[in-house]
Amino acid sequence: MASGRIIAVANQKGGVGKTTTAVNLGACLADLGRKVLLIDIDPQGNTTSGLGINKADVKHCIYDVIINDVPVEDAILPTQVQNLFLLPATIQLAGAEIELVPTISREVRLRRAVNPLRSRFDYILIDCPPSLGLLTVNALTASDSVLIPIQCEYYALEGLSQLLNTIRLVQKHLNTTLEVEGVLLTMLDARTNLGLQVIEDVKKFFRDKVYRTIIPRNVRLSEAPSHGRPVIHYDSRSKGAETYMDLAKEVIGLV
Ligand code: ADP
Ligand code: MG
Repeated sequence: MASGRIIAVANQKGGVGKTTTAVNLGACLADLGRKVLLIDIDPQGNTTSGLGINKADVKHCIYDVIINDVPVEDAILPTQVQNLFLLPATIQLAGAEIELVPTISREVRLRRAVNPLRSRFDYILIDCPPSLGLLTVNALTASDSVLIPIQCEYYALEGLSQLLNTIRLVQKHLNTTLEVEGVLLTMLDARTNLGLQVIEDVKKFFRDKVYRTIIPRNVRLSEAPSHGRPVIHYDSRSKGAETYMDLAKEVIGLV
């Protein structure tokens, strides 16, 4: 029986590769035979549309689960990828950040909904919004660990102290066993020295928490979502597919 590990993919900066990582790591884990649930808690719903799911057809989304107490089973959808399931988000979720404020147990709503799913999945990945508000706090509270994607660019480390501070607060008050799963360097442009400098800085800061796998800038990764597919099902021989598969093996502990 599965005993699912729940991993939040978080960084309050937008455009660092959270969604790309959630979708493609999820699909690669599924390809390796693991049963995976992706939870989209970004009101933008990019994970949802990136898997080819039409938001207009979504009957229940994560909003209904955390705000309206709709049973989580009623919101889980299969995807075109075997072993990969989705708890979708729609723009409805944009209201949740404010609607949660006066509600009882507002930080633990996602945890309550998701905990019973551990027996059904090997991995549950939560794609966070680009903020440190209540939705991200819900994700961190529900998770065993947090995977932090960092874009290999000049301001890479900027803002990370706020994220780490939020993680510490959640550890102190809501989820004492939360750990950092790993730090993933993304969108490396190997032609510049800048990228190499960032790698060095991030390794100095996070040491052995940094994944050996580094995701390069790869146009196939940015094209795949408009085809509604993870990159391994869009161009399996691309560098993007290859490196996310390497990451999946590293996360499982196969390499
Ligand atoms: P976030 O979820 O952190 O906002 P995304 O995963 O949506 O970031 O990535 C931001 C943009 O960059 C998207 O258009 C995505 O397709 C693109 N992108 C992400 N990772 C890569 C990559 N390794 N190479 C090329 N484009 C990428
Ligand atoms: Mg995103």
